[in-house]
Amino acid sequence: MLRIRDLAVGYGAVPVLDDVSLDVPDRSITAVLGANGAGKTTLLRSISGLVRARSGSVELDDRDITRTSTEEIARLGVAHVPEGRGVVEELTVEENLRLGALAGSRREHTDMFHLFPLLRERRREPAFNLSGGERQMLSIGRALASAPSVLLLDEPSLGLAPKVVRTIMGVLRGLADDMGLAVLLVEQNARSALSVADDAIVLALGRVAVREHADILARDEALRHAYLGF
Ligand code: ATP
Repeated sequence: MLRIRDLAVGYGAVPVLDDVSLDVPDRSITAVLGANGAGKTTLLRSISGLVRARSGSVELDDRDITRTSTEEIARLGVAHVPEGRGVVEELTVEENLRLGALAGSRREHTDMFHLFPLLRERRREPAFNLSGGERQMLSIGRALASAPSVLLLDEPSLGLAPKVVRTIMGVLRGLADDMGLAVLLVEQNARSALSVADDAIVLALGRVAVREHADILARDEALRHAYLGF
């Protein structure tokens, strides 16, 4: 379980996040929505220790990780899939997965082939031969190879066809339901994110403007129009 309390983060003198509180329980998906520049990526980066909080706290299973190093946060079970498909292009699918497993050495890279059968077929291909959707699956597979308990995803649907987006969202739901992960899903594609998430927040100018169950937010026309543009 991930717990964020009163988090304030900035770059230099510029404040980006203010007073952000959020719980992401195990076995659930929380969507983080909001316009460009609202601070969604910064939220993920501050959870994984890439940027430091000015105040407030981040806790993982009751352990305060606000000042913990990025490496240690990863070792404690937080996996971060950054925007832009973090795979090593020159390595094969299998090599990329092995690299992910090195970080935690807790799971055989071949386990990933059960989750992503497409990757099994392409395991000897260099990653640069993969389609956008396959790369995204490989990025997620890499992150999972260290057997995390929390998965942070930054815009996994970016640039992908609707059918591929549905597949990825289905995989995320499975990770929460079957593997018990706490998933924090940053998305511009609010409609897709709300279709799989349990809960959602909308960030506006670095603050939590809306906090709602995902299905309620998806049905609330006024909130959707005001914050999500659909
Ligand atoms: P996007 O969807 O465009 O990625 P976002 O909601 O993820 O937006 P962030 O990337 O967290 O937003 O950016 C929030 C604000 O912080 C923006 O105003 C951005 O310009 C600024 N910012 C982001 N990274 C840095 C940085 N390394 N140095 C200075 N300012 C930054």
